[in-house]
Amino acid sequence: MNNARELLSSRTGPRTMSFDGIAGGPTTQEIVAALADVPQGLGHELLQALWWPESGRRRREQLRQAVVGLVAPEFTRQMHELADARAEFGIAKASMGWGGGVVTDVQRREVRRAEQALNDARAAAWPNNTMEQLGVLAEAVIAEMVGACECDRCGGRKIVPDPAGAGVVNCGVCGGSGWEALSGRKRAGAIGADWSAYSRFWRPVYEWMLANFRAAEACAARQFSKALTMAA
Ligand SMILES: [Zn+2]
Repeated sequence: MNNARELLSSRTGPRTMSFDGIAGGPTTQEIVAALADVPQGLGHELLQALWWPESGRRRREQLRQAVVGLVAPEFTRQMHELADARAEFGIAKASMGWGGGVVTDVQRREVRRAEQALNDARAAAWPNNTMEQLGVLAEAVIAEMVGACECDRCGGRKIVPDPAGAGVVNCGVCGGSGWEALSGRKRAGAIGADWSAYSRFWRPVYEWMLANFRAAEACAARQFSKALTMAA
């Protein structure tokens, strides 16, 4: 898979044509054809943004659409959940002693439950202006992916030998991503926020986007690699 990525980046640069005709490797045309076999979507766009930036720059609009297509449904789902929780809390409060009746323990418990559910939904929701910041977030996440180093501890393998015995466990240093994470301060700087705003508000959406971008890119890289093998 990494070979396929390296091929993509080495054969599509300005010096592309000079690589053609080297025995044993796919031609630039074959590489471009294999790329066309990778289904359209976020992974397809990220594969190019990361490994063929020249093409990525021409496909900003496709990338934007794919990013919106990933993030908007999750953001909307959270907003709905929050609105539902708020409405339920309002109903629970209004039901206390409804019509001048006695307030019951059941009603009190329901208010506490609904309030807790509302607090949970608030804590889990991304910032209100997430969609306004989406371009900046996406750029920062992609920049982190471009510059990412493999995790020191697991060497990018995502797993380490289980210290408790036989077998393996997820690497605790990189959280099983295989990549060294940028510090919160660097991420904050990249999205134009201070560190406390990053850690309080932006970290969940940033980490969610990074994990989903990486998964989409890895899937596209596998499909690209498979298409190259079949063309060879
Ligand atoms: Zn690791």
